Amino acid sequence: MRAIQKPMTLYDMIRLTALRTLASSALAGFVAFVIGWLSPGPYSNTVILYAIAIPFFVTPFLSWMTAAALRDARAAQIRADELAYTDSLTGALNRRAFFEANAPTDDAAAHTHRRAILFIDIDNFKAINDAYGHEGGDAVLRSFAKRLQVCVRKSDLVVRFGGEEFVVEAEDLLPQDAEKVAQRISRAAREDCVPFRNETIRYSVSIGVTCGDATSPIDQLLAAADAQLYLAKNAGRDCIRSDGAGMTDAAAAPSGRRVARAAAR
Ligand code: GH3
Ligand code: MG
Ligand code: MG
Repeated sequence: MRAIQKPMTLYDMIRLTALRTLASSALAGFVAFVIGWLSPGPYSNTVILYAIAIPFFVTPFLSWMTAAALRDARAAQIRADELAYTDSLTGALNRRAFFEANAPTDDAAAHTHRRAILFIDIDNFKAINDAYGHEGGDAVLRSFAKRLQVCVRKSDLVVRFGGEEFVVEAEDLLPQDAEKVAQRISRAAREDCVPFRNETIRYSVSIGVTCGDATSPIDQLLAAADAQLYLAKNAGRDCIRSDGAGMTDAAAAPSGRRVARAAAR
């Protein structure tokens, strides 16, 4: 994803104006000095003084106009990026942002990073639409996306991947911690009471979890998480399935839960 730009502040504009003013006065003074030195005349010092003083009064106005134009251009660019990379209904990132963020990189440091993928699907969403209409479904999507952001770290990617499907990508997370995040998300959905007209909509989610590092192709990770999601749906929904990928030997030692998961496969 392209580096996110920050809006231009008043401080940025004042600094730009001041630097340009000083630079133009210094340059004009230097040029006047060189000319006066090459062909000395009785008014050389006065010319140098004027050369320094005139830009000092003129440049601030011109530079301020330039700074204002830059500020507006940057604001427009930020807005355009928001529109291009976020889902307008939920405010989550969209697929484009996700795949750009996961574009292959030559950065060697990135290859040591673990990453967890959580594939999340709202259960029986069609039934919610049928019962409350499309607007009711949209209210659930908005509410869930908001809750999702609270369940993850600021650095994690929260993506609306399709209709009622979301993906969370979290870096530097052990598989067992990824499962804990999934449990937090699952609880957040189960406990959500979405106010809609005079009613309250309740819902649950199913989650598939997998882990890898930056060398694991993103399509492969998505497919692995999706396969686990499929198992969660088959297990009756409102649950989590994880393939435990990326576990160390100690962490991967069979536990009751892992055995149960293996049995579900
Ligand atoms: P499952 O538990 O197996 O996931 O069943 P489901 O009903 O959630 O899944 P299904 O794929 O059958 O239905 C998803 C529905 O989501 C169908 C589609 O009309 C609806 N949908 C897709 N995008 C939107 C949207 O932006 N807003 C609303 N309200 N509904 C949407
Ligand atoms: Mg779905
Ligand atoms: Mg669904």
